[in-house]
Order: sequence, then structure tokens, then C-alpha cells
Amino acid sequence: MTMPAAPLTSLTDVLQQYWGYDSFRPLQAEAMQAVLEHRDSVVVLPTGGGKSICFQAPAMAMPGLAVVVSPLISLMKDQVDALTECGISAACINSSMSNAERLQVANLIRAGRLKLLYVAPERLCTEKMLDFLESIQVSFFAIDEAHCISAWGHDFRPEYRMLQQLRIRFPGIGVHAYTATATEHVRQDISTQLGLRDPEWLIGSFDRPNLIYRVQRKSDVQKQVRAVIDAHPGESGIVYCISRREVDELAQLLVRAGYKTRPYHAGLPDTDRIKHQDEFLNEDTQIIVATVAFGMGIDKSNVRYVIHTGAPKSLEHYQQETGRAGRDGLEAECWLLWSSSNFITWRKMQEELPEEAKNHALECLKGIERFCTGIVCRHKALVEHFDQAYETPNCNACDVCLDQLDLVSEPLVIGQKILSCIVRVKESFGADYVAQVLVGSKEARILDNGHDELSTYGLLKEERKEAVRDWIEQLGSQGFIERVGEYNTLSVTTAGWKLLKGQADVRLLKPSKKKSASERSTKIELTSWEGVDRALFEVLRGLRRRVAEEHGVAPFIVFADTTLRDLARRRPTSLVNFRQVHGIGEKKTADFGSLFIDVIRDHCEQQQLTTDVSAQSESTPRPKASPAAKPAAAKDALSLSSAKQLAFDLFKTGKSIEQVAEATSRSVSTAHDYLIDYLGVTVQEDPAPWVTEAEFARIREAAQTVGLERLKPIFDELNQTIPYDQIRIAVACLRNSI
Ligand code: ADP
Ligand code: ZN
Repeated sequence: MTMPAAPLTSLTDVLQQYWGYDSFRPLQAEAMQAVLEHRDSVVVLPTGGGKSICFQAPAMAMPGLAVVVSPLISLMKDQVDALTECGISAACINSSMSNAERLQVANLIRAGRLKLLYVAPERLCTEKMLDFLESIQVSFFAIDEAHCISAWGHDFRPEYRMLQQLRIRFPGIGVHAYTATATEHVRQDISTQLGLRDPEWLIGSFDRPNLIYRVQRKSDVQKQVRAVIDAHPGESGIVYCISRREVDELAQLLVRAGYKTRPYHAGLPDTDRIKHQDEFLNEDTQIIVATVAFGMGIDKSNVRYVIHTGAPKSLEHYQQETGRAGRDGLEAECWLLWSSSNFITWRKMQEELPEEAKNHALECLKGIERFCTGIVCRHKALVEHFDQAYETPNCNACDVCLDQLDLVSEPLVIGQKILSCIVRVKESFGADYVAQVLVGSKEARILDNGHDELSTYGLLKEERKEAVRDWIEQLGSQGFIERVGEYNTLSVTTAGWKLLKGQADVRLLKPSKKKSASERSTKIELTSWEGVDRALFEVLRGLRRRVAEEHGVAPFIVFADTTLRDLARRRPTSLVNFRQVHGIGEKKTADFGSLFIDVIRDHCEQQQLTTDVSAQSESTPRPKASPAAKPAAAKDALSLSSAKQLAFDLFKTGKSIEQVAEATSRSVSTAHDYLIDYLGVTVQEDPAPWVTEAEFARIREAAQTVGLERLKPIFDELNQTIPYDQIRIAVACLRNSI
């Protein structure tokens, strides 16, 4: 029996009424339309893309009960909690419930009082359950995490195969599959396995523009990890390690250093795992150090960073694991710390696999290896890996595009030296050997082979062998070199021959270290914190936790971080204005409105802040360098670490560098760096009050003679009478006026 389709316009009302959202995200409208029209669909959106609402909103707009298949109790529970908080009648049926509880749910359904039912596939596909569903009005079936049906996916669950019955037993009712899976093969398999009828295919972009990717070689891992954590005080993050031993060690170190940290891996007793996961969700603990065992079923939307302390075994895994950051669409950082030994470890582990699986695993490993050693935009590299085009010239959200990589000035010459050495040793040796020849090593095997006689011997003798090794990797990742045979001997590719002839472009990194987390220079936009009163945000965060505890739900279910920031930005003191805030629907206004308004009013009175700021009156300065091609939402999502944000707020009010250093508990030199960034981001042309007018005039004059490229000539031109710090500030402003 096919019901008439409800109009899409009513869905906008549903979205506003229950969720407090004003518009659809990409493909959501199309996905909902398919549901309303009872047309089967396969919806592929990245994590955080907003898949749930694609079936939750239509469920509210259609008569009957929507049945949602979900693989994990924790996922069901989170979604049911979130829906209930929005005023939607949803429930789940699972093994952790008593018979009486299940009966209660069945009664609600019979009375037509439930809109969404969450259930595991094996329970759904029992005869009893299917009979029951045939006796009531089902609006549609939504299969969440649908890749679990495919043996090709990363998370095959045989019980999902039972869902094949649905299409046969409920011919008139739409079946809709939702997944974030990136591979074509798996998507096709989903449709085939479910027996979908000419489904609507809706495939979103795999890019996650709010994730800031940074890739760095592992050096002092503890220091590197702490630098990232320190840049996110009080915020939630996940640190992935390859082995359980590493998890235990790192977690202990962090606990000892005073960080709220918990370990998570399959070797821990169930009770500990559940406890640690709950503590993370409830924000009693800030950091989870985990193996890949952690993550599935984690819907926590405000994970602000994910750190990998070793390379995962494929880009698919990397995408999956980093995907847990920034689900709320706000900025989040993804740090990948890797070392060559990671790849050796994975290769060893894969040796035992059957031939076909082994080859596949090796291909995957090559992909992530290229990603680590590569120096192309990380967003581009990831998106293209998943066979989608990426046109944005500068993502403004990765180490490569943020200009943190120091490139050598003559990469062609170095590239040619390396390639010609590979040719001279007759493409019969590995990377280490070639590097040794290039740096002029006196190792016996090189002398025995007579390779000290080669014209390329010692061509790069000023460099360290490790630097040359890195360049070889970089040439490999850019396709100029490939490794062949059992011994991984280097061979020059067709592209490599072009490079030898000077007919190709190459980029190589300077051997010097990349910048660390704490000293990263950020030209990144700060718009997602624009206008937000940080102190109020912290106060509201505390309140959210208390409320969540009382309601027995996770804090992010009460309000997402986006909502909390919007509250601290607009500072509503009436229910009408409260209801206008992003992510606040009718029920949350009724439930939490007065409570939050009281706290906001108190805070604003004490701090003499304006209240009831309307959305339109916010001034949002746009940095000059913002990429035109990027959607506004993506740009809005980027921001800075909180210390820097505070510094920016203070600079805006004209505070001195010393005052800012004190307020942010940072050194004067760091505060100085913040100021330089602040001037860049706000595109300020006047250095007052940090440089006097007279000094500025003299610096400007000197710069007219010697240029703005470097500071030293200006310093000398001024007979060294004005300190560098002042010159740096003035020059930052002069550069803005070019
Ligand atoms: P996914 O299941 O695809 O990973 P979710 O359904 O969990 O993503 O959605 C991620 C977040 O985005 C949630 O907090 C959700 O409420 C929010 N969201 C979804 N759709 C919209 C929208 N149209 N406008 C604003 N926020 C949205
Ligand atoms: Zn980039």
C-alpha cells in the first residue's frame, strides 16, 4: 500500500520546530524527498554530513512508524535520547531492555504514538517482529550504517544480511540506506544485498572542510601530542595508537602529566571500556587514548581533535577515524604523526594474509604512505583518493595550504640529482643505498661496488642521509620513482624521465623540521568564534554539563557546541530570542530556556555585555585571503586555539602585548606572534597602539627604500635604532596595505 507523498515544504517547518535549524545541508532535501516519495535510496554523506535528519524529519512528516536499523545499542540510545530532547517520540527495542519495557514500546506503537523505532537487524528480522510490523502502519525503513551489510566494507556484520527480507516482505514500503562509506564497490553491494528497486543515488562530497589536517613525522611523540592537547584546553579529543601497549603507556604518561585521560582498547575489561567511554561522552574525561577499537558508535559531536601517533593501515581507516572529529561542523584538528617504521610494522603483519587480500592491503598501505610523504593539499589528496574531484585551490585547512611547509628553492636540481643517481646504479638498489651514494658514504658495500666512482657519488654531500631519504620518499609520492620487486629497488618512472629532462614540476621539503603544534602560524579564519563571549561560553558549558547529568544524557545531546557558541554570541534574555538561536527548537526552549536565560542575564550584567544581539548585526570581518570557491559554512567553521582567540579579543580592545601575555599565560614573544597573526587576519593597516606614529613613519620610509621582503635591511636602514619587534608589527601592517 503506497501512501501519498507529503510536501517537502512541511519538512522545513519540522526542521525548525523540532531542531531549530533553518536550512537543509547538501543533499538532505533530495534524500528526504526520496523518503516522502517512497522511492528506495542510497544516501552517502560523510560523517557529520547530517544523515540522521534525512530520515528523522520525514518520519515526523509522514503517517505511521519509521523503523530504523542500527548496529549498536549505544548508537540507538544516543539517537533516541537526542530525539526525545527535541520532543520527538522515539524508542528502541534491544536486548538490554526488560520484557515489560518492550511491551510498553509495543503498546505505544499500537496506539500510534511512536514516530521512530530503532532496532538491531537480528531483532527486526525475527518472525515475530516482522509479523508485528505487518500489523501496523510502517512509513519506511531506514538502514543506518548500511555498509555493515557488505563483506567489502570495513565493518561487515553478517546479521545485516537478514535485511534482504524487507524488500520482499514489505513491497510497498521504501527502504533507505545511509552510510559514510567511500568506496563504489561497497555502495553497489549495499544496493544489491538489500535488493533495492532502482534506488535514488545521492552521493555527497567526501571533503570535510572543517577538519584541519596536519601531517608530521614522529619525533618526540609525547611532546607533539601534548602540544596539540594544550592548544585545546578543556576540549575533547581522541588519540589513536597502533598497539595496546602504546595506548597504556601514553595514557599513563598523560595522566601523570595532569591531563584528564582514559585508555581504551580491546584488552581492557568490558566494565572499564564502558566506563571510560561514558566518561568521555559525559565530559568527565577530556582525552581518550585508544586503539581503533574505539569509535564505532561514538556520536559525540564536539570532538575537537584527533591525533594519530602512528600511520593507520589505509586512507579509508584514516578517513573513518578522523571523521569522528568535528561532527558538529565546527573546526577540529587532525594530526597524523607517522614514522617509516609504521609501514614496516603493517607490512610484516600483512605477510600472513592470503595472496589477494595481501595485495589489496599493500595497495592500501601505499596510499597512506603517499599521503604521509606527499606535499599536496591534504583535502585534495583525500578527496581524490576517493575518486572525487577537488577544485579548491587553497583549502586553508591543512599544513600544506597554510604554508607551514618549508619548500626547497631548487627542487628540480635536487630531484634530478637523485633520479640520475638511481639510473647510474642501474635501478638495482633501494632507497637507503641510493641516499648513501648521494651523500658520499664510505661504506664498504658502496666502495666494493665501485659506486664511489660514479659521477653522482657525493652529489648531495652537504645533506644528511635522512634528508635525502625523505626526498626520495617525496619523489615517490609524486610519482617520479617507484619501488619494484622483492627488494624494493628504486626505478625511475615515465614521469621521472620527464623530470630528468626538466619537463615536469616537483616540490620538495627543506630538511629542517616542520613547525610544531604550538608554534603553528595560522592565517586561518576565526569566524566560528566571532562575537562569542568566551567566558560566557565556558559558563554555559558548565551549565550544560549539569543539565545533562540531571537528564541522564550526554552534554552534546542537550546542546551542540554550535548552539552553545551561538548562545554566547547572541546572549538572549527572552524566550523569543532564545528560540531564534541555532539548534534550539520548541521543546528545548520550553525545557531549558528560563534556566539558560537567567545565567546569561547574570553574566552579561556582571560583565556589562550587550544582550539580545541579533544575527544580522554581527560583524564578521573576512580575511583577505579567504578562498572564494569555498562554501561559507566551511569558512565559518574554522577558528583558532582558545588562548589565541582570547588574545585576539584583547588586541581588538587595544591591549598591550604585555597585558595580553599576562592574560593568556603566554610569553611576551608568543603574545607578539599572536599580534602579528591578529594584524594579518584582521587585515589591519595601522599598527597603533603597538607602534607609535613617529616610529611607523620612519619604518615606512625605510621600507620604501629597501623593500618589505626582509626585516634586517629595514633594521639596518634605520641604523638599528628601532627594535625588531616594532619593525615586525609595522611591516605586518604595511604588507596588509599592498
Ligand atoms: P551523520 O550521521 O551524517 O554523521 P548527524 O546526523 O549526526 O551526521 O549530524 C551531524 C550534526 O549536524 C548533528 O548535530 C545534526 O543535528 C546537525 N545537522 C544535521 N542537519 C543539519 C542542518 N540542516 N542544519 C544544521 N545542523 C544540522
Ligand atoms: Zn590544503
